Amino acid sequence: MAVSPFGPGKIFILVGPGGAGKNTLMKAVMPQLDNLSQLATATTRDPRPGEQHGREHIFMDLATFEQWKDNGWFVEFEEVTPEKYYGTPKIALERAFAEGRDLIADIEIAGAERIKAAYPDNVVLVFIWAHQDVLAERMRARGTSEKDIQERLDRAEREYAFAEQCEALVVNDIQTQAADELRSLIERLRNPKPVHA
Ligand code: 5GP
Repeated sequence: MAVSPFGPGKIFILVGPGGAGKNTLMKAVMPQLDNLSQLATATTRDPRPGEQHGREHIFMDLATFEQWKDNGWFVEFEEVTPEKYYGTPKIALERAFAEGRDLIADIEIAGAERIKAAYPDNVVLVFIWAHQDVLAERMRARGTSEKDIQERLDRAEREYAFAEQCEALVVNDIQTQAADELRSLIERLRNPKPVHA
């Protein structure tokens, strides 16, 4: 990766099919690494129990979301689930890059692609994958119907094609192993921290 005009900070974006365990892996590696925090993306969905405004997401109503969009404050935005919008705030990214702070985020494929196009030298795309039987078992444990499981497995196969455009792939069949792999990958790919005299 070349030197970025936006600064030394990087964002590690985890992409991949539902059930691959992106969120769990993100939460597992964050406390193990210095200078790595979650990018809080904007969303119009309601907060879930335990979530904090400004930590997992910036929670906002649709009118505010539209205003941010019109002001050009998002790098990208998507209707991820019906009538639930998500957007990546430009200022939060660019500030972190400039200050040399590293970020991690779970963003769906179309959005991740657009962020990579905007900041090619700051974005590391990490494809998180799990084998079909593991994905199916995780979905079953969440109470997903067999029909939905089949649909999502078919979609997962199609999404796998995107792995080719990513800098790295982590197979998350066994969560502890995958978390170790992701942690060492981040350590290897991030810029060295400046040494202060
Ligand atoms: P959740 O509501 O569970 O926090 O997020 C649902 C999904 O929305 C995530 O798995 C992620 O793929 C996607 N997502 C979160 N933030 C953004 C964003 O800023 N842009 C896009 N395009 N997708 C996002």
